[in-house]
Amino acid sequence: MKQKILLVYTGGTIGMVRDKEKNTLVPFNFDGLLKAIPELKSEELDLENISIKNPIDSSNMHPNIWVEIAEIIENNYANYDGFVILHGTDTMAYTASAFSFMLENLNKAVIFTGSQIPIGSRRSDAKENLITAVEIAASRKVSEVCIYFEDQLYKANRTVKVNTEHFEAFESPNYPVLAEAGVNIKYKSVLQKKQNKELVVHKNCSDDVAILKLFPGIKLATIEAILNSAKGIVIESFGAGNASTDPEFTSLLSQGIQQAKIIMNISQCLHGEAVRGQYETNEPFEKAGVICGKDMTTEAAITKLMFLLGQEIGNDKIKQLFQTDLRGEVSK
Ligand code: ASP
Repeated sequence: MKQKILLVYTGGTIGMVRDKEKNTLVPFNFDGLLKAIPELKSEELDLENISIKNPIDSSNMHPNIWVEIAEIIENNYANYDGFVILHGTDTMAYTASAFSFMLENLNKAVIFTGSQIPIGSRRSDAKENLITAVEIAASRKVSEVCIYFEDQLYKANRTVKVNTEHFEAFESPNYPVLAEAGVNIKYKSVLQKKQNKELVVHKNCSDDVAILKLFPGIKLATIEAILNSAKGIVIESFGAGNASTDPEFTSLLSQGIQQAKIIMNISQCLHGEAVRGQYETNEPFEKAGVICGKDMTTEAAITKLMFLLGQEIGNDKIKQLFQTDLRGEVSK
């Protein structure tokens, strides 16, 4: 039986051309993209495409555009076997992480891909990324949100962009890859199992969030300003979840919690996790009642916070869900 795949074009380097006047890369018409890859046509595949209204460089990504893309998936969900989202690499890990929360009970593949070099260029990585992403979406083996890039299929909410120069632009530091593409595509046992539930698309994402990255010497006034700027704050702390033991820092955190803010702690380190109580320097968070985000990526933590704050649920529920593994984003 023919597999029906919908390609959703959102912009990114993959579909860009050089603007001769400005000498910068800008998004171009998606039809040109498909003409550039005739190999995508196959007897077993029914491939259709759709584009968001205004394709963008993904550095211009915004939760409103997440909703536009999510609605494309929602409106076409029953008619396709899988979805491939063409997206710029810069914020792909954020969008893909957000989608893992926005699309609940997903039973089909939603594969994000893009490229480091535009498709029209001779050494482009776009062709391979796109062709294999489509093949994976059509395989019926995947029923979750993923990123496919340079031979690796990653769990969306475990992925980070780590390289601007190499073709291996992404990594999933605390989670095994879901599949590897060589001569054959080898799917791993960590793939999420299919479940027979109705898809629920969550469209409310709060932007009342901030990220506070600590560094030695950061001014208390800076910390205070960031904590005051939003309802939900992700703190990127040192090493295994540590921070200065300055009582004024702890007091700022406590004040934030008293003001009903949701504050959570993750590590600046790519590998490993924030843990509770290993060092004295973990105490500021413990004393103030900050949630420990363990091995969540920054991308997963901030989008999970946006997702949870967007739901009509109280603080206690948000805190409880934050510490619960909802879509495989955090290790047990
Ligand atoms: N700036 C581009 C984007 O994220 C980079 C890329 O696609 O690789 O849209």
